[in-house]
Amino acid sequence: MKKKFIRAIFPGSFDPITNGHLDVINRGVKLFDELIVAVGRSPIKNPLFTPQERVEMIAELVADIPTVLVESFDGLMVEYAKRRKADVILRGLRSLTDVQYEFKLAMTNRSVAGIETVFVMTSAEYGFTSSTLIREVASLGGDVSRLVPKTVYERLQQRLKKL
Ligand code: ADP
Repeated sequence: MKKKFIRAIFPGSFDPITNGHLDVINRGVKLFDELIVAVGRSPIKNPLFTPQERVEMIAELVADIPTVLVESFDGLMVEYAKRRKADVILRGLRSLTDVQYEFKLAMTNRSVAGIETVFVMTSAEYGFTSSTLIREVASLGGDVSRLVPKTVYERLQQRLKKL
């Protein structure tokens, strides 16, 4: 039997992308034939980068992985996943706290759109990395250089200087 081509979508806010997200992307690349990193354009609390800037930062980081695409989307994520003919949603898990929220989200998405969610666990070293905390810590002058890629760290510094 011919193996089915599997396209996954990895949705998130990615404001900004972190080493934890990259870890999930690299794991997803090994599992799926194609992976779409999808940046949500819906407003989030205290955003630092525009959706376009977030897409650019991610695209730069995955430029050498031919099976990864980076896009942004508006509205309901599962509608977008359907339009892009994605077979599964990919999400990362850091901790048991993530499981509770992600479980509800996955159940909802399956019931409204019949789409399955696949979870990968991040490396332990990124278990505490979140974009929200990075924005907060960086804006108060904390050193987040180990938590984000170098290019993202530089853009963070520039952005915070201007605020
Ligand atoms: P959202 O606002 O939709 O949660 P995020 O950009 O915060 O978007 O996260 C997108 C996905 O990446 C989620 O599945 C989240 O659990 C996962 N994720 C975020 N940070 C990490 C990390 N450090 N390690 C593993 N997964 C992560």
